[in-house]
Amino acid sequence: MKEIKAVVQPAGKETERNLMREMSFAVGSGPAYDVLVMGGGVSGSVAAIAAARAGARVLLVEEQGFLGGSLTAMGVGPMMSFHNPAGEQVVKGIPDEIIERLKARGASLGHIPDTTTYCSTVTPFDSEELKIELENMLVEAGGQVLYHTQLAAVETGPDGIARAVVCNKAGLTAFTARVFIDSTGDGDLAVRAGAAFQSGRADDGAVQPMTMNLKLANVDTAAIRRYAIEHPDDFLWHESGGGAAEGIARLRRSPRISLAGFLGAWRAARERGEVDVPREQVLFFETAVSGVVIVNTSRVTGLNATDPFQLSQAEGIGRRQCGQILNFLRRHAVGFAQAVRMDTAAKIGVRETRHIAGRYTITREDILHARPFADTIALGGYPIDIHTPDEAGTDTTHLRPDIMYQIPLRSLLVERPANLVVVGRCISATHEAAAAFRVTPIAMAIGQGGGVLAAEAVRLGVPPGEVPYAAVRARLLEQNARLP
Ligand SMILES: Cc1cc2nc3c(=O)[nH]c(=O)nc-3n(C[C@H](O)[C@H](O)[C@H](O)COP(=O)(O)OP(=O)(O)OC[C@H]3O[C@@H](n4cnc5c(N)ncnc54)[C@H](O)[C@@H]3O)c2cc1C
Repeated sequence: MKEIKAVVQPAGKETERNLMREMSFAVGSGPAYDVLVMGGGVSGSVAAIAAARAGARVLLVEEQGFLGGSLTAMGVGPMMSFHNPAGEQVVKGIPDEIIERLKARGASLGHIPDTTTYCSTVTPFDSEELKIELENMLVEAGGQVLYHTQLAAVETGPDGIARAVVCNKAGLTAFTARVFIDSTGDGDLAVRAGAAFQSGRADDGAVQPMTMNLKLANVDTAAIRRYAIEHPDDFLWHESGGGAAEGIARLRRSPRISLAGFLGAWRAARERGEVDVPREQVLFFETAVSGVVIVNTSRVTGLNATDPFQLSQAEGIGRRQCGQILNFLRRHAVGFAQAVRMDTAAKIGVRETRHIAGRYTITREDILHARPFADTIALGGYPIDIHTPDEAGTDTTHLRPDIMYQIPLRSLLVERPANLVVVGRCISATHEAAAAFRVTPIAMAIGQGGGVLAAEAVRLGVPPGEVPYAAVRARLLEQNARLP
C-alpha cells in the first residue's frame, strides 16, 4: 500500500473542476497485465477472449458479478442481428462461436426469423447460460476476471495510461498494463484518461432514451401468435422486411415470437391515463425459454446515464413504468392474463451516452452507403435505429437488403492516450451511425477487433495505433471473423 494524492470530483459535476479538492488515499498495487479490459459487457468480454487467445495476459474488470453487460445485467435480448436484411450473415468469429456453444448447451435456438419484420433474424438466448459461457471462454483462453470492481481513477504518463485505479471490497488498487481497453459503454476509462468525446446528438447533446426491461414468464405465446395472425392491423410491420404478409408467414414457422403492437389497447390505455410511458406500442421478445418474454417498452427520456444521480432517478422511473406495463398487459393483452413477473433488470438499459472522439468518426453516410475502409475490423447489417430522444417514436432508416457496412480500426483509437483502445457502443461515431452498430452482435465483432488489436500491439511492442492493419486482419481471419 502506498499513499497517493487524488483529485476528488463531486458526483454529477463533470465540468465543475473548480470544486475539486486534493485528498490522500491508500492505494494497493495489483499484478501487471499485458491488456486490461475495463467493462465485461458484450464487447469487453469478446475483446478479452480475443486478446487472450492471441496470447496476451488479460485482466477483465467488471462492476457486476457476471459478464454480459446489457445482455445480462440490463435484461436485453434477443441479439439482433447477425445478418443483413437480405439474410446474409455479416457477424461471425467469436460472437458466432458464443451462439454455437449456447446451442450445444440447449441455451439458444440460434438465428431464427424476426417475426416483427424489423430484421431478417434475431438470436434469443438464455441469459443465465450466457453468463456461464462467457466466463468459461475467457478462462479457457487463459484470461482472468475481476468482478464487483469499478474504475475509480486513471493515472497517465508520457506513454499514455500508466495505471488504472479500481475500487472494490479491497479498497483502491492500481493496475498497470501495456494496453488498456475501454469497454464500459460510456467511455469512462477514455474520458478519465483525457480523451475528448461528444455526448449524444451533435446539435443538442440529447441521447436515446433509457429502457427498464421487464421479464415475464407464463406468457401464452401460442395465443398471441393466433391473435397476431388474425389481427395483423393491431401490430407494426416493416415494408422493408416484407410487411404483414411476411410477418404472418414468419409467425407460422418461427420457434419463438417477437412483436411490436397491441396498438389499439395501448393507445386507449394511454388516453385513459393508465400508462404514461412515452412509447407508441408494446415491444416484446420471447427468449430461448418458451413462454418467457422480455418486454422492452418502458422509456425514460431527458436523463444522462453518466450522471449517477440522474441514472438513479431513471432506475426508479423505469421500474414504476414496468408496473404500469405489467398491469396493462395482464388486463388488456391476449396471452398475458396469467403472466408472472420474473424481474426488472438489475440495471436500467442505457442506449447512448458518450461517443469518444477517435481518429476516424463513423457517420450516417458511411453506414448508409457501406463506405469501404482500408482498415475494416468488423461488419454490420442492422438499420439506423433511433429511439427518439424527445418524444414517443422510433426513427428507423432501413438499409438496402445486401448492406454490409464497415467499422474501421481508426474509430477504436484516440490521439491520446496512445495505449488505449475503445470498443463497443461508445467508439468514435455520430449519434446516427452509433444507432446502427450499437446492437450486440456488431458490438461483439468490434470487441473482437479491439481485443486482437491490443494483443498485436503487445506482441509487436508498439502502441495500438502503430500496429500494421495486415497483422490485425490476419489474426481476425484466423479467429474466423468476417471481413470484406
Ligand atoms: C433497452 C435496450 C434494448 C436493447 N435492445 C437490443 C436488442 O434487442 N438486441 C441487441 O442486439 N441490442 C440491443 N440493445 C443494444 C445493446 O444492448 C448495447 O448497445 C450493447 O450491448 C453495447 O455493448 P457494450 O459492450 O458497448 O456495453 P455493455 O454491454 O453495456 O457493457 C458495458 C459493461 O461495462 C461495465 N461497466 C460500465 N462502467 C464501468 C466502470 N466504470 N467500471 C467497471 N465496469 C463498468 C458494465 O457493468 C457492463 O458490463 C439494446 C440496448 C438497450 C439499452
